[in-house]
Amino acid sequence: MNQTYLQLYADFIVKVGVNVQPRQNFIIRCPVSMPDFGHACVRAGYEAGAKRVIVRWEDDALTRLHMEHAAEADLCELKPSELRCWLDYAEDPDGCCLLAIHADDPEALAGLDAGKLNRVSLARRNFLKPWSEYTMNDRVQWCVAAIPAPAWAVKVFPDLPKEEAMEKLWQLIFEVCRVTTGDPVSAWKEHVAKTKARKDQLNAWQLDRVHLTSANGTDVVIGLAEDATWEGASSVAENGTEFIANVPTEEVFCAPHRDRVDGVVYGTKPYAYNGQLIEGWHVTFQNGKVVEHGAEKNAALLAELLTTDENACRIGEIALVPASSPINRSGVLFYNTLFDENAACHIAFGAGYPTNIRGGAALTRAQLMEKGLNDSAIHEDVMIGAPDTRVEGIGKNGESHLIFADGEWAF
Ligand code: ZN
Ligand code: ZN
Repeated sequence: MNQTYLQLYADFIVKVGVNVQPRQNFIIRCPVSMPDFGHACVRAGYEAGAKRVIVRWEDDALTRLHMEHAAEADLCELKPSELRCWLDYAEDPDGCCLLAIHADDPEALAGLDAGKLNRVSLARRNFLKPWSEYTMNDRVQWCVAAIPAPAWAVKVFPDLPKEEAMEKLWQLIFEVCRVTTGDPVSAWKEHVAKTKARKDQLNAWQLDRVHLTSANGTDVVIGLAEDATWEGASSVAENGTEFIANVPTEEVFCAPHRDRVDGVVYGTKPYAYNGQLIEGWHVTFQNGKVVEHGAEKNAALLAELLTTDENACRIGEIALVPASSPINRSGVLFYNTLFDENAACHIAFGAGYPTNIRGGAALTRAQLMEKGLNDSAIHEDVMIGAPDTRVEGIGKNGESHLIFADGEWAF
């Protein structure tokens, strides 16, 4: 692949995405299959002045072996060191920041017992919650970005040999992440400014609810949580540092009210969950809760997902993404939420982001729940945007505003 782009990409996600500050501890999660890219990010981190760069190598095949052979009870019993290895750096006086590099095989865990996978990942999430709160609340800068993995590339381009598929996926990632502009920093500055203007307008309208419709049958009214704010593009961590949590990101998103969602929603892209694909799915909401659901493929997995815990059947996010987003325009299904969620409007089953509530980072989960923000061990984005999606916003004063027409921003 193009080495210039590779270096530009690594520099961009470390120095602008995470925005590593001098003396910070910089944690990198990197697939073991892509050491060169991990090393490039380590170098960029030290160039930015990191005190220490800590790399956690991750391995899909190893995860599969554990899931296949170890007993569920043993997998659910986590050791303190598995939490301390994150918290030690989060609690360091110099603070920390995180880069998570994904190169997931979308079907790494295909065929395994969905119930077991779900219960083990729930146990892990609950155990690691003291650490995940740091990123969920933007207490530290964090960024999720992706690089190709052979199994993933072949899934995206099934007609190409492995090498060519990898090359093509690299090129595509460079394109949709604006690296091929040759100056991703400037391209992203412009993109961030445009996105900020949109969320400012949405916030100025003081919306009570949004109404989404499309010809595929989606017709849902999503009430917003109390003091909900629209966010997008960049975030600001507790230490005042601006960062981009997802690369790429095309969305402007808000916190739904957990009890005020009514109507039916049809998925418009397959959804990769726990290394398996849910396709042709729909859900019906009543008073915020999924009361009926189905899928053409892996319906049982969708049922597992929605019953992960008490509030997994409610939503924590509504995000607007225009059909003209570079990811959607590429016409490629990535089988990867980071990309696919930026191709279409989406909702997320499970927890909402406290940062979508004004002053929310300072509130407890119980206080946030009172404002209508959902809480759950999961946050799973599922795509519902269609080429003809229409979104109308209704203000607290009853005034109506056209937000989306034919899948595009209408203001
Ligand atoms: Zn989102
Ligand atoms: Zn989300």
